[in-house]
Amino acid sequence: MSGIGKGVATSSIGKIIQSKGYRVTVMKIDPYVNVDAGTMNPTEHGEVFVLESGLETDQDMGNYERFLNITLPPENYMTTGSVYQAVINRERNLEYKGKCVQIIPHVTNEVIDKINTAGKKTKADVVIVEIGGTTGDYENHLFTEAARQINLHHPDDTLFVMLSFIPYPKKIGEMKTKPTQQAVRLLNSAGVQPDIIIARSENKIDDKRKEKIALFCNVEPEAVISAPDVESIYDVPLNFEKDGLGKVILGKLNLPDREEADFNGWGKFVDKVHRAKKKIKLAVVGKYFHTGDCVLSDSYISVIEAIKHASYNNDRIPEIDWLDSEVFEKDPGNVALLEKYDGIIVPGGFGSRGIEGVISAIKYARKNKIPYLGLCYGMQLMVIEFARNVLGLTKAHTAEIDPEAKDKVIDLMEKQKANLKKGIYGATMRLGAYPCKIKKDTIAQEAYQKEDISERHRHRYEVNNKYIDALEKAGLVFSGTSPDGQLMEIAELSRKEHPFMVGSQFHPEFTSSPLRPNPLFNEFVKSVIKQVKSK
Ligand code: GLN
Repeated sequence: MSGIGKGVATSSIGKIIQSKGYRVTVMKIDPYVNVDAGTMNPTEHGEVFVLESGLETDQDMGNYERFLNITLPPENYMTTGSVYQAVINRERNLEYKGKCVQIIPHVTNEVIDKINTAGKKTKADVVIVEIGGTTGDYENHLFTEAARQINLHHPDDTLFVMLSFIPYPKKIGEMKTKPTQQAVRLLNSAGVQPDIIIARSENKIDDKRKEKIALFCNVEPEAVISAPDVESIYDVPLNFEKDGLGKVILGKLNLPDREEADFNGWGKFVDKVHRAKKKIKLAVVGKYFHTGDCVLSDSYISVIEAIKHASYNNDRIPEIDWLDSEVFEKDPGNVALLEKYDGIIVPGGFGSRGIEGVISAIKYARKNKIPYLGLCYGMQLMVIEFARNVLGLTKAHTAEIDPEAKDKVIDLMEKQKANLKKGIYGATMRLGAYPCKIKKDTIAQEAYQKEDISERHRHRYEVNNKYIDALEKAGLVFSGTSPDGQLMEIAELSRKEHPFMVGSQFHPEFTSSPLRPNPLFNEFVKSVIKQVKSK
């Protein structure tokens, strides 16, 4: 079932198998018709996670990379749209040699081939495939069918794990396993029998419930794994392992179990998460936070995780507040709300809503010397604020919002002009990892400790080179650029001016993991901690 932590459960299964010394890769299948996740609004489907290759994918791919500390190739992601696109292209190229092209076997074969390719490309011993959506969804039948066929041909090398929600209606006072039983029936009708059932519930499930699930769902009691709510998602692999999941999985895959799981470093990080006592208070300013009465922090999951990695590695609990920038537009006095924060982050984004509010928050951070980290749009808006209020170009703007602005300090990248003219939006931004050269004696260099770095991008606009001289003369430092010096990748104020005012054109959050916090986030958190101390 979706929305109950399937991504974290999948990542945790991967982590356990990896901890036993196997090479693991993880794939995500999204059953929607979009060819990739790039054209979806974040309030619709959460964050768009960008792979090193530039493929725009589901946020779960980020979970896999963070948990397993691996870089996933584009072969590890597919959607109904991408599968059909590949099949239709083959059909148009006469690759099916005049045959009638059908869902079974041609489309299912495409899915199976992709899974095989991902396994080969990553040289994995074990390939974990997460099928998105909920059992019985009309949309994911194609993928359940492909999985059934893989199992038919390789029964000893495959297994099915079902994640099921066990409700606990307070009035009844008992955990109900009936929905799980029904879900297994539905899967059975598609020819699939789960080997392992992970029971997601508020509290740990008791032995009685385990036995009931085992009996009615046709699995062994030790293959029913309890997955209660946890304080931190990083606990999940350790909890699963305590419940014996690794042993069951390896047993069913006929792979030798290596007794002790070696969560090298993971356990240490989890200890830090639980031991941290001191807090830092951070404000994330932007939009996409609210839909109806809910706060949609899902839209920025990688940013949140990157903050956590840097904070816990520095023994701090991050307290994050989501501030809707429109609040600063309605009443400019509201910007004083930022006073109580130890650090401010402006994440990536698109369009004009709430932007003047963001710019006033950035101004507040600069003037009041509150550590500031700007991610992509957050860097562009930092440059605009600086151009307006320090350089005196009061009409400075981004062409994204005002194409007729007098001073377009942020302008459309040359290569993007044709795309927008022709209305070609899908997968046409500047996407994926690009190299960046870091300038000596800058905060960026302090953070990365090297000259050549590579980070992931997702944008159409960039700093307009016409303004670089003037901006630099006024005190803005471009501390990271493309190797040819043409694209501005990092902007900062010198430490003499401000404790930490840094923006990056790339998204550093995509390469952060618990065991390898991203250097920019790490340096930001360190500056935050220094400031808190000096207050
Ligand atoms: N809207 C900006 C651009 O396209 C920034 C994008 C982002 O923040 N990811 O350049």
